[in-house]
Amino acid sequence: MGPMTTLESLYVEPEAPAGPEAWPALRFSDVFKIFRSGGAGEASVETVALRGLELEVARGELVAVLGPSGCGKSTFLNLAAGLDEPSAGDVSAFGASLTRLDEAELAAYRARKTAVIFQSDNLWPGLTAQENVETMLRLAAVKDAGTAATEALAAFGLADRRRHRVAALSGGEQQRVAMAGAAARRADLVLADEPTGELDAANEALVLEALGELRASYGATVVVVSHSPRVADFVDRVIELRDGRVVA
Ligand code: ADP
Ligand code: MG
Repeated sequence: MGPMTTLESLYVEPEAPAGPEAWPALRFSDVFKIFRSGGAGEASVETVALRGLELEVARGELVAVLGPSGCGKSTFLNLAAGLDEPSAGDVSAFGASLTRLDEAELAAYRARKTAVIFQSDNLWPGLTAQENVETMLRLAAVKDAGTAATEALAAFGLADRRRHRVAALSGGEQQRVAMAGAAARRADLVLADEPTGELDAANEALVLEALGELRASYGATVVVVSHSPRVADFVDRVIELRDGRVVA
């Protein structure tokens, strides 16, 4: 304690409970994620992917979570997306603890609130770009899904790729389909897992600018997970992850 400490300075005025507007988009409180694999007893292998992770992302923030391979980035993102559960600790989004939601509420959280932009695997490869975005919009109960999907795909430079099956699109085009889907349903929380992992610097910049556009156009909160330090130039704040916890 410094020399200026007085009893008075330690007293904190009790505040009225903050309303929904003040709740952060994401809050991880002492989150652990332990993966167990292999047989029972001595043969089983335990991996502690997150060890006491604490972090908060404010609404409307554009944040990068950076760290080396294996530090827990994808695990973090899966928990934030409601695709997996913590072993211990709490994950809250927009004031709601995800572990306390029932299956229907969690499904609504995934379909309406969040958009996940993975390197792959979050689209329906056999459907066209148009059908993919339309399906996302229907799941989110958006009206006029067809028109909204067409407009969003055009806005992301995919007007002439609309009728192509997603499996036939490049990785960058697939990401833009996912971003068009996020924009069309105005997903509050956009989570991108290494969206620039396989891109050169110029294309990396295009993807990061497109994510920035999501924030600019309707105030999305955007979290980009990456091992690329260049991502830092495009975000408000960098959270450094090492060994399952925040270091800076
Ligand atoms: P990153 O995305 O930063 O590369 P991950 O979150 O994918 O890291 O993985 C963190 C650690 O957890 C790694 O050691 C990884 O091998 C392990 N891990 C991730 N998913 C699983 C799983 N389903 N089963 C077992 N171990 C896992
Ligand atoms: Mg990963």
